[in-house]
Amino acid sequence: MKERDLIEQIRRLTGSGSADLLQGIGDDCAVIEKTAETVQLLTMDTLIESIHFDCSWHPPKKLGRKVVAVNVSDIAAMGGQPVFALLSLGLPADFDDQWLAGFSAGLTGACREYGCLLIGGDTVCSPDRRALTLTVIGEMKKEQVLYRHGARPGDTVWVSGPLGLAAAGLDLFRSGEMPDIPELQLLQEAHLDPHARVGLAVLLAQSGLVHAMMDLSDGLATDLSHLCEQSNVGARIMAERLPDYGKLTAAADFLQQDPIEWMISGGEDYELLFTADPADSKKLLKLITLCDYAIYPVGSIVEGKGVTLIRDPGEKGSDHEQNISYQGYDHFTVVGGASSRTP
Ligand SMILES: [Mg+2]
Repeated sequence: MKERDLIEQIRRLTGSGSADLLQGIGDDCAVIEKTAETVQLLTMDTLIESIHFDCSWHPPKKLGRKVVAVNVSDIAAMGGQPVFALLSLGLPADFDDQWLAGFSAGLTGACREYGCLLIGGDTVCSPDRRALTLTVIGEMKKEQVLYRHGARPGDTVWVSGPLGLAAAGLDLFRSGEMPDIPELQLLQEAHLDPHARVGLAVLLAQSGLVHAMMDLSDGLATDLSHLCEQSNVGARIMAERLPDYGKLTAAADFLQQDPIEWMISGGEDYELLFTADPADSKKLLKLITLCDYAIYPVGSIVEGKGVTLIRDPGEKGSDHEQNISYQGYDHFTVVGGASSRTP
């Protein structure tokens, strides 16, 4: 069973909802009305040892930071600000005190950086491997929440940064070799210590220019497919427009991989993916000059279904158009980047 089928099966069994629930299963966060003007955003993510991280190369402090960043990224996906966090920590009975000290320092430091307070949780014995679950609660104005379901045909598809870095970094770790190119350490850092784009997300939500938004955690191919399905539209992505970190090709040459595969299927980018009216592109680009972020137009929303990647728009022919719907990371099947995500 694929991850989205599993989620759909559970969703069908849930109750009919509550008057305060504005968004349940199916977006980056659940959205609950707090006051007439504000909402709470709730999200939870788990990292499991040997599936999502490998302690032989993941320093505990950076792992603590990553648990926070991947959850806060889901708050950013709606345009919100993180406020509180709860941690469930599963550790073997003979856990290492020094490892825990480093992990805790990373976790609490990242909470402070993102402005959220750790307010509780649970600690349990996990005999086989470490299991790290964080719940984050965020807040924002109700009228500014950016859902996945707002994309419209004709919209431009934007991403907030270069893609594929973390996937390349993980493959470099897994290869056990590192070419003598210092800049490639940035790829490994992208896997070890990702950053949630909260500041940009809040700016975009406040702008009123964005129709739909989510964060990129399972790869553009899968995440854009979710956004399209929720919006009842399709998308066309131009490979040549995908923002590339200059050294990705060097890593791809070294490992004999296709950099485009990392960019569309690798996962763990934690950049923002959003759509907006093309008539507002200049306004968006002007807005971004107010902060240190960048945004890149990578394609368009179209009528219909599915996500298509166009590799060479200069030549006609079906070989240059590839259906990449849901070709990213799936937690329960080995598709695309899954093989590279599972040590
Ligand atoms: Mg997400």
